[in-house]
Amino acid sequence: MGERSVTRGQQLGSAGQEVDPPAGGLVDRYGRQITYLRVSLTEHCNFRCQYCSPEEGTPYFDRAEHLQQDELLRLLRLFADMGLQHLRLTGGEPLIHPHVVDYVRAARAMGIGKISISSNGLLLEKLAPALREAGLNNLNVSLDALDPDVFRSITRGGDLARVLRGIRAAQDVGIPRIKLNAVLLGKDNRDQILPLTEYALHHGLDLRFIETMPLGSAGSAARDGQYMPAVEARTIIEAHFGPLYPVASARDQGPAKLFQVGQASARIGFITPISENFCANCNRVRLTAHGRLVYCLGQEVGLDLRGLLRDGSSDAAICARIHDGIWHDKPERHEFLDNRERSARVFMMRLGG
Ligand code: SAM
Ligand code: SF4
Repeated sequence: MGERSVTRGQQLGSAGQEVDPPAGGLVDRYGRQITYLRVSLTEHCNFRCQYCSPEEGTPYFDRAEHLQQDELLRLLRLFADMGLQHLRLTGGEPLIHPHVVDYVRAARAMGIGKISISSNGLLLEKLAPALREAGLNNLNVSLDALDPDVFRSITRGGDLARVLRGIRAAQDVGIPRIKLNAVLLGKDNRDQILPLTEYALHHGLDLRFIETMPLGSAGSAARDGQYMPAVEARTIIEAHFGPLYPVASARDQGPAKLFQVGQASARIGFITPISENFCANCNRVRLTAHGRLVYCLGQEVGLDLRGLLRDGSSDAAICARIHDGIWHDKPERHEFLDNRERSARVFMMRLGG
């Protein structure tokens, strides 16, 4: 895979010369501050969700191809020095990674304020206490259905009861800001929208419905009929619960539009990468388990940081390459729909969904 996006962006000064990235924090040429890093700890997963994973799972790759613990810690430290405010550990399934708790603890010691994990929840019952103690302060759990059979079908074998016990354990140990994420699948979980909403409101957990992005498995023609715009989910919820009232969301809450349902404390959100593009506010880049820095979810190219780490590059040289790459190569917006062939090659498990 190449290191560059198709056309390298140029910012030209008044004299027509190419402008270098400004010193200081990470910023791209559209003026977006990059303060959020999503790290895919592993491409592997203990589920095989239909919209995310190939049925047979991700191909085996040698452990040596992964970033080693000292390599990832070094990169996190460099990002922290460049103004990182939010780290998310994701995957694949980050809780199957043997060092996940150590990374949370280390990020906390580096002074990164917001430390999040995205998980399918299967191993949460066991790991919640250690994650809480290590300093995890945000947790997203994927929950696409409340009917055990529907859940098993979407995740290709997932155990709903165990995931629900994991969510309960995370609440019991006091992990702050736990959110649920449900991918909207027109055929598979339309009838789960109300049960999921009821569950979230009852347990005081924010729930966000996400439009399916045509990436990887979900990018194949066979999955086309699954796309469901968020507005349809909103209509279903309003028909049952009454009007949803918009609530202001903090800038660090990401692209979800949040709503209040009656007097409930929990909020319902919608994430609309397809029907309402939110790239203008993008503040994130992604790091694959192989150490490739990717500037946008719609891209399959990026900067090979593992190569730089292993060829003896200095901290200053690595930081300069990161500054330069973000400035020149972070695209203005994703192109999921414009380039379907490329989107189908992009796997969330690789890029850290
Ligand atoms: N395994 C963890 C989980 O399921 O939360 C973390 C990794 S998963 C790739 C991160 C998020 O990406 C999940 O909320 C999942 O539902 C979402 N996701 C995966 N494929 C997607 C797609 N094609 N469209 C929209 N969301 C997707
Ligand atoms: Fe695994 Fe998460 Fe992808 Fe499901 S969405 S296959 S749990 S990585």
